[in-house]
Amino acid sequence: MHRLRALLLAGFAALGGLALFVSRSDANPETVKLIAPGVWFREGDMDLGHCNNIIIEMKDYLIVVDANFPSGAKAAMADARRISSKPVKYVFDTHHHGDHLYGNLLWTRAGATTLAFQGVADELKRLEPARWEAAAKTRTDVAELHQAGPEPPKQDIKEEIFVLNDGSRKVEFHHYGWAHTRGDGFVYLPKEQVLCTGDAVVNGPYNATMDANIGNWPTVLAAAGKLKVKAVLPGHGVPGGKELIAGQAEFMTELRKAVKAGKDSGKKLEEIQSSVTLPESVSRWVSEKSLKGQVRDAYNELSKE
Ligand SMILES: [Zn+2]
Repeated sequence: MHRLRALLLAGFAALGGLALFVSRSDANPETVKLIAPGVWFREGDMDLGHCNNIIIEMKDYLIVVDANFPSGAKAAMADARRISSKPVKYVFDTHHHGDHLYGNLLWTRAGATTLAFQGVADELKRLEPARWEAAAKTRTDVAELHQAGPEPPKQDIKEEIFVLNDGSRKVEFHHYGWAHTRGDGFVYLPKEQVLCTGDAVVNGPYNATMDANIGNWPTVLAAAGKLKVKAVLPGHGVPGGKELIAGQAEFMTELRKAVKAGKDSGKKLEEIQSSVTLPESVSRWVSEKSLKGQVRDAYNELSKE
């Protein structure tokens, strides 16, 4: 698989698809990397729809960040077993999207407790099982489970912070409000200064804004940005430093600003979609493919105000 990808990428590069090659050159999909002692980052293969996972070792058990799609859950479970003989006790869903949560059932079957902020359960009630049914039509891993809908988290966190501390490590779960989704959760390791962001921060043009609050997103990131952070482990894309948080916030600010300017000058959505340009400083988050949808979502959000 990896060799095939390398060959394909080399082929693309030779054919002039150099941008693709360069932008993905530091990617290592479906591999596990040690970030700090007992903290591993598993990079999901976006071609398989997988999100990233983080595996955190406690004294007697493991915590996994995000359930992933069912196929990603199986792969992450196998990696967790390879890394440690300790059982996975908790799986934290950073938000309600299928690529972060549809694997819940597999983790609970394996004995783990799934947990998330209250907004995740609320969004599942509002949006499911429609999305699950649609996913089952295109994804065999979802169809194979033969379920009517996704399994909601077993435990809902109603406070804005929840802490697990077994003496060996302190793990904080934070909700700073509505950014990527209403239920966005961050996982923070204060001693290691590692922040797992789910899709509130992505490293690349992977921002899905259909359930977002683009206007509030930078506010949420400003709150997360107050933490002491050395490593940012995003929901999609490779790990980075604290600059990822500020960059992602700037992308949302610039997106909204550009769409608002177009709207205020009387342009129609389609006109803004075909003419919008964002500053070079946020180019890491911009792709032609994703920008149209992001402009539409920003436009709709502004229309409601
Ligand atoms: Zn998402």
